[in-house]
Amino acid sequence: MQIDVLKDGGATAVLSLKGVSPSFVNALRRAIISDLPAFAIDEIDMLENTSPLFNEYVAGRVGLVPLTWEENASPDARVLFSLNAEAVDAPRVVYAGELTTDDPNIKVFATHVPLMKLGKGQRLRLQGTALIGTAKRHAKFQSAMASFGQLPEFKKNAKCDKCGECVKACPQKIISDSIALTAPEKCILCEECVEACEKEALKVFPKEDEFVLFVESYNNLSALQQTKRAFEAMKAQADAAEKELK
Ligand code: SF4
Ligand code: SF4
Repeated sequence: MQIDVLKDGGATAVLSLKGVSPSFVNALRRAIISDLPAFAIDEIDMLENTSPLFNEYVAGRVGLVPLTWEENASPDARVLFSLNAEAVDAPRVVYAGELTTDDPNIKVFATHVPLMKLGKGQRLRLQGTALIGTAKRHAKFQSAMASFGQLPEFKKNAKCDKCGECVKACPQKIISDSIALTAPEKCILCEECVEACEKEALKVFPKEDEFVLFVESYNNLSALQQTKRAFEAMKAQADAAEKELK
């Protein structure tokens, strides 16, 4: 197997994986989505809610607020959060960043997420406890997203006269003037280029063992860190299965 980082944008990453099966890449995708432990606010005590939203709506929104992750956190960790918001003189938006905690490591990651709008004189006071879980239990624990596609085999033959029709037809604008792919990971295998080639000089088809993986992290870990955690989760599952056979 060969893995190359095509793009590292911190919260997002694009990787190419060569010499693997579709099932393997799909297992990695599922591990990124479902097997990564994360904190989420799971228990809520509603102290005062004079907003237009039912307590259950508010609890659902608070639970989905992305929190930071700490690798050394105890699996039994419980982190207390408080929210004390009031629209004193005029209506206002309550943001996730108003959820406060004394914990130095676990805090709200996406502080700009709007939770609700309070009308003048309305108040929202609550306490919430964040726990560790994975998205297998509830989507609020999902801390990353991943998707993948097959990389293209792009072949032109001797009939090509460099007329440039395929260059113009490509919706992704990834065919160079020398009729080669500039960014294979952006190819959507639409075959517009093949149809535009009247000389039948071009073939595009998916490679069977080369894939592009897109990863996005929702917390303080980078997309590449989340991918490494997913490999560790897959290894732990494989080790547990191996033990069962002994
Ligand atoms: S359309 Fe066909 S002939 Fe024209 S440049 Fe592309 S591959 Fe070559
Ligand atoms: S298959 Fe579609 S996206 Fe890929 S190179 Fe051809 S036209 Fe562009």
